[in-house]
Amino acid sequence: QHVVEGGGYTFYVSEMYQGYLASKALMRDLKQATEAGEFQLVYQPKIDLATQRLAGLEALIRWRHPEKGLIGPAAFIAEAERSGMIVPIGAWVFAEACRQLKAWNNAGLRMPTVAVNLSPVQLKQADLVEQFRDTLKRYDIKPAQLELEVTESTFIDDIGASSVTLQQLRDLGVCVAIDDFGTGYSSLTYLQRLPVDRLKLDRSFVTALEASAQTERIVEAIITLSHGLGLRVIAEGVETEQQLTMLRAKGCDEVQGFWFSKPLMADELIAWLKARTST
Ligand code: C2E
Ligand code: CA
Ligand code: CA
Ligand code: CA
Repeated sequence: QHVVEGGGYTFYVSEMYQGYLASKALMRDLKQATEAGEFQLVYQPKIDLATQRLAGLEALIRWRHPEKGLIGPAAFIAEAERSGMIVPIGAWVFAEACRQLKAWNNAGLRMPTVAVNLSPVQLKQADLVEQFRDTLKRYDIKPAQLELEVTESTFIDDIGASSVTLQQLRDLGVCVAIDDFGTGYSSLTYLQRLPVDRLKLDRSFVTALEASAQTERIVEAIITLSHGLGLRVIAEGVETEQQLTMLRAKGCDEVQGFWFSKPLMADELIAWLKARTST
């Protein structure tokens, strides 16, 4: 039970009502945040294991709340999806990634790719492909510099419709990755049917790698299977050198995680890259 003080009275509200209030308030705040420009993207490097070089970046959203401070996506993406606010927020994320890429391109920094997370709700937008095409054009970005990460849950409702949209996005020239691979239900069916280029091995496998021989076998099998299907494999959540060594030995193509870098603001990223190439 929660206690809410107000107007000289004390209210005892149930968890459910508290949740409702919180989500109403959150929805209002999200709307306001979109208009006030309170969102920001941070970028986490992905490393190519064959060359040790930067393979790309993943853009992750942050919310600079005027009172509550920095808020991570775990606290608001689900509500944004329920309320539909993810549509304008997602459009902003894609445009902001393009704007940043253009700024880097103009500064002569040759960034490989930037990956953006795509919500299942966005994939159902009728004009998504057109919107992305327009945004790429507006910022003069080559589609090949953009990558989209979609989770398996995207396909639960309607694998047919999702596949069609993903294929249209690939036809634009952007790359598509399955995110959090291995955490959903019908992974193998999806692999067979989805038009994707890459697979992101979920962090839970990476975390379990050192302690479990079984996980090792599963990771090896996923990598072999992916390569057999022509997909590149990227492991996320790499935090230790041991994990890195094991993933490299198993033929994993790319890694991402705190071992290399946490997600960085654009200027921090440039400093990180400079420090890295000068050593
Ligand atoms: P995700 O796409 O699986 O992103 C990876 C998450 O793992 C990020 O959390 C990242 O900061 C964190 N991470 C990276 N390396 C490590 C590591 O070595 N160890 C650990 N423990 N964590 C690591 P973040 O930024 O809080 O994002 C959480 C989730 O929110 C994302 O999971 C993604 O599903 C969603 N998200 C983030 N940005 C966006 C966005 O712009 N649009 C949408 N629709 N979803 C987003
Ligand atoms: Ca992701
Ligand atoms: Ca992920
Ligand atoms: Ca995730």
